Amino acid sequence: MESNNLNDNRNKFNRRSFLKNVGAAGLASVLASGTVQGGPNEPNAPAKSQGLKFPKVPRRKLGKTGVDVPCLSLGCNRLDNQIILRSALKWGINYWDTANSYVGGESELNIGKFLSKSPELRKDLFIVSKASGAWKASTPQAVVDEVEKRLQTSLERMNTTYIDMYYGVHGLSEPAQLTDQLKQWVIKTKKRGVIRFFGFSTHTNMAQNLSAAAKLGWIDAVMASYNFRLMQDNEIQAGIEACHKAGVAVIAMKTLGIRTDHKVETEEDKKIVGRFLQRGFTPTQANIKAVLADERISSACVGVNNVADMTSNAAAAIDKTELSQEDTTALKEYAQATCSGYCAGCAHICNSTLPSVPYISDIMRYLMYYNGYGDRNGARELFAQIPANIRNRLLSTDYSTAEARCPQQLPITRLVAEAVTKLA
Ligand code: SF4
Repeated sequence: MESNNLNDNRNKFNRRSFLKNVGAAGLASVLASGTVQGGPNEPNAPAKSQGLKFPKVPRRKLGKTGVDVPCLSLGCNRLDNQIILRSALKWGINYWDTANSYVGGESELNIGKFLSKSPELRKDLFIVSKASGAWKASTPQAVVDEVEKRLQTSLERMNTTYIDMYYGVHGLSEPAQLTDQLKQWVIKTKKRGVIRFFGFSTHTNMAQNLSAAAKLGWIDAVMASYNFRLMQDNEIQAGIEACHKAGVAVIAMKTLGIRTDHKVETEEDKKIVGRFLQRGFTPTQANIKAVLADERISSACVGVNNVADMTSNAAAAIDKTELSQEDTTALKEYAQATCSGYCAGCAHICNSTLPSVPYISDIMRYLMYYNGYGDRNGARELFAQIPANIRNRLLSTDYSTAEARCPQQLPITRLVAEAVTKLA
């Protein structure tokens, strides 16, 4: 049995073995309170705080920016409480990723509340935000004006005079959105000292967008969907390699590869869960490890719902146990067996088939937020932003050609109908 097997560790754990065993999911929850329980070597010791010094998540270079960041970053997309922020810092997770739109602005306000209470900690944080929706403006100059407006709102909400990394396009779908007007704004805004670094996030057409970023020379980082599923895609691999060579940092998001139809538990799900529990990991921990095995990724950003999640994720990043070749193969086989439940974001394929409904990839993602993240309100808000004339014809559209061309073999007709039922 593996040295970090969960059941073994429950019996063997003591303070000395903490670093060795911290990857096990059960231990992670023991540590959530910073409390060490008495073990077999100290059977009568009550559970009490030992002033445990928390190990820190390893750090990696952020492209050629000259700064380093924790290899696990905190996604604040569902976060509106202070406890998780403080818990993240215990593990050295000082990279906090938010956006103008997250939790209707409450995510940024939450960070602002933290900084109003602890302004001295601002210098220790690497704060990331995004200009949600600014790209929808009608002209390149109007986009820049919207980006500036959102930046000012974010600074005010977060009680800070600067943002470390600003993703000026939140959800870049094509390189053409990286206009010269935006480039000029970036140069001026960096000089004003309001943003330190600039980039974009992308969850559609990632391969093309990563490759474009590598060539531009004014993009510091790309936050792109990347997980055990997407790492099988050769074009995405080429995009990441190009960024890596150009010194453009790549931050992984959608790190866990959660499916659109997440609630469906298949035999493959049961098999993969059983496998990793035997190895001493939760599947979530294994998915984080799979992404972090790629040294070109500066940080894997993962959203959490509670301190236990935070702790378990930190444990996965700190634990030095590597996935075996068999583990990697099992993940690859699982990805293949469940591919029809995961939209890979290759929107150029379905959009070219159905130019009148250029939202299929988005709808699949919103359904994933609903089913997989349990973020019902957020998913409904995003769905409501699809133009009404397109929403109204979703159920009467013929998706058969798109289904035939979809490399993931998604049952698009069924999933769109499910999305309309749940999100409209
Ligand atoms: S629905 Fe299929 S073709 Fe369209 S983005 Fe998703 S995986 Fe790609």
